[in-house]
Amino acid sequence: MNCELCQRVDSLGKSQYPFIIFEFKNSYLCLGEHQYYEGYCVLVTKNHFKEMSDIPSPAREEIFQELMLSSKAIQSVLSPKKMNLCSLGNVVEHLHWHLFPRKAEDPDFKNPPWLQMHKFSEKKTNLDQSESLILKIKNELLRMS
Ligand SMILES: [Zn+2]
Repeated sequence: MNCELCQRVDSLGKSQYPFIIFEFKNSYLCLGEHQYYEGYCVLVTKNHFKEMSDIPSPAREEIFQELMLSSKAIQSVLSPKKMNLCSLGNVVEHLHWHLFPRKAEDPDFKNPPWLQMHKFSEKKTNLDQSESLILKIKNELLRMS
């Protein structure tokens, strides 16, 4: 298995990945590797798909619903001015979405979050500091589902 995200899904299934927030039927929601934008999360599909258009129905509709629930839970916990949802996959060709809650006071609010990516490693996710945030988003998802 040489796909980075297939390996992550495998460790998520064995409860070996600490930043998990929620397991959906078709995907996992995890806190992102950095918190340059507080509440930055990643939704990863359990199965290896390269393109959204590759997902068969009804999983495609279910995954969209899982993405919407994830976004709503983050919104409800952090009240961002705007959510930025991105699915690119040029680096890792396993379908995933980046969910960035954006605050009005973000350094470069009107621009895509990637323009700050050289600074992301300054705020690497720390499990102790993130525990309560993970719990809040998880509880919100439990409440909604
Ligand atoms: Zn994969």
